[in-house]
Amino acid sequence: MQKQLNLVLFGPPGAGKGTQSEKIIERYNLTHISTGDLFRKHLGQKTALGLEAQRYMDHGKLVPDQIVIGMVEDKIKSTKNTNGFIFDGFPRTVPQAEALDELLQSVHQSISLMISLEVPEKELKQRLRNRAKVSGRTDDQDDAKIQTRIEEYREKTVPVATYYDNLDKLVIINGVGQIDEIFGNICNVLDPLNEMV
Ligand code: ADP
Repeated sequence: MQKQLNLVLFGPPGAGKGTQSEKIIERYNLTHISTGDLFRKHLGQKTALGLEAQRYMDHGKLVPDQIVIGMVEDKIKSTKNTNGFIFDGFPRTVPQAEALDELLQSVHQSISLMISLEVPEKELKQRLRNRAKVSGRTDDQDDAKIQTRIEEYREKTVPVATYYDNLDKLVIINGVGQIDEIFGNICNVLDPLNEMV
C-alpha cells in the first residue's frame, strides 16, 4: 500500500488552523478531518453524538476522548483512496494521540509530521473576538468561554506537542504574519516530504 502524507495541524484556538488547512489540502490533495467541524455538523443535524458533544462545547470544555476517537475512526475507515489526511483540532489530548497512532498502524499508515502554529496569547484573544463577529459560533462569543478553551489547551493539549516532539515529528511555524507568508513556510517543510511519499 502506498504511504500517505498524514499531518497533524496543531495550535491554540484562533491560531489559524482552519485557514492554513484549506490551503494545505488544496496543494497536497489531502482529506480534511476537523473534529470541531464534525461536531458542529452533528450538532446541526441534532444527532445523539452532537447533543452529547454540545454539553461540553458550550462551556469551552473538551469533549471526552472516547466520543472523539470513535468519530475520527469512522471518518478514517470510511475514506477510500486518499493521498493522506490532515487532522485539524485533533488529537487534543495524549490519549487521543495514542489512539490515532494505533488506528493508523492498523491500516499500515502513520503520522508524517505535526505542524504547530505559534501565536502569542494576546493576539489569539483579539482574533477570537474578531471571529465572533462573523462566525456566529457561540463558543467565540464571550471572554469566559474563550478563557476556558485556552486553559483546556494549556493543560491537556500542549502535552500532545511533546508527544510528537519525542517521536521527532514536531515542526514549529510562526503563526503571526501574512497568510501566504505563513503558508510558504509550511510548504518549505512539506514539499520535500511530499516528494518522499
Ligand atoms: P477552536 O480550535 O477554534 O477552539 P474547534 O472548532 O477545533 O475550535 O473546536 C470547538 C470545540 O469542539 C472545542 O472547544 C471542544 O469542545 C470540541 N472539540 C473539537 N475537537 C476536539 C477534540 N479533539 N477533543 C475534544 N474536544 C474537541
